[in-house]
Amino acid sequence: MSEKNVHKLTYAANTALLVIVLGLMLFFKKLEADFLVYFSIPTLCVYIFTYFLIYKDKLDIYVWIVYSMIILYMGVTTVCLGESYGFHLYCFSMIPVIYAIDYVSFRIGRRTVKSLYISICVAVFYFIFMGYVRVNGPVYDRDNKYAIFFLITNSLIVFWFLVLYLNAMVRSIIVSETKLTKMAHKDRLTELYNRHYMLDRLEEVSSEKENAVLAMADIDDFKKINDVYGHNAGDEVLKTVSRKMKEVCEGCDIARWGGEEFLILFCGNSGVTEILEKMRSDIASSPVEFEGQIINVTVTVGMAGGKKDQSIDEWIQDVDNKLYIGKNSGKNRVIG
Ligand code: GH3
Ligand code: MG
Ligand code: MG
Repeated sequence: MSEKNVHKLTYAANTALLVIVLGLMLFFKKLEADFLVYFSIPTLCVYIFTYFLIYKDKLDIYVWIVYSMIILYMGVTTVCLGESYGFHLYCFSMIPVIYAIDYVSFRIGRRTVKSLYISICVAVFYFIFMGYVRVNGPVYDRDNKYAIFFLITNSLIVFWFLVLYLNAMVRSIIVSETKLTKMAHKDRLTELYNRHYMLDRLEEVSSEKENAVLAMADIDDFKKINDVYGHNAGDEVLKTVSRKMKEVCEGCDIARWGGEEFLILFCGNSGVTEILEKMRSDIASSPVEFEGQIINVTVTVGMAGGKKDQSIDEWIQDVDNKLYIGKNSGKNRVIG
């Protein structure tokens, strides 16, 4: 959430609080609960003053004032009218609120909030005012015909808030985790998988590697491409070659293993040699265009099927040896 949106949201929340307190004040007047009417007046003044705090970007102070005011207002109304009105239920929603504030502070780079200590304080305060009404009864023993309305409304608001909050929190965790996992597995330049992902994948298929084929493709004379056409052109070549590999080896796991080296894992595929041969010839026959320059690119590929008693490192070494043979026998070829 951007800082501008946080401001907008805070203005809206402050207005909502002001309207709620005003409404409650009128209701307390009708109930002739004088103390609550008088208590609402300074509360309203506080919520008018807090507009100034938002305007001045003093959001840290704003949060503390409003949070304390809500808890105090809730405690005072419960002590005055009793628990049958359900104002005490807001304590349960004030705890997630402090964690939400903690999270938003972190997201916008502000000082973190001591949410654990604050939530303990809220719980302690809850026991104090609930204990008081239990022992002494409410200050105003009024006709309770409105209590059920308030109890239902307050319960619904608290339930709605808790469900909404938890739902938003879990969705946000899922979205972040998916994004992070994707980022942790991908190479930024080529958008292929990275080395870590490929190592994990190789471990996964380790028990059935007799049905799998591993190939290592390496761009030929890539250093020369960088030297002649520039580093940016080299990057473009990496991206184009990666795209072609993905097109030809659809459904395989392809990772950027190192600078201009790629590992391709085929699981249960038939005709792997033909696929790799097509990949090699496609790359060789379609030069890369970069800023008006035509760059001829070829790759050399080493490939090997997995063997039962072979470790992953030995398998990769086997493929690397084949690649080495290809490089020493003229490049631009597939060695199996
Ligand atoms: P060979 O045909 O034997 O594979 O020779 P080569 O020149 O391709 O191999 P060499 O290992 O000598 O050079 C690889 C070059 O790849 C060196 C390095 O600067 C370059 N390189 C590595 N990563 C990147 C990258 O992300 N972008 C660019 N543009 N170049 C990179
Ligand atoms: Mg190379
Ligand atoms: Mg290399």
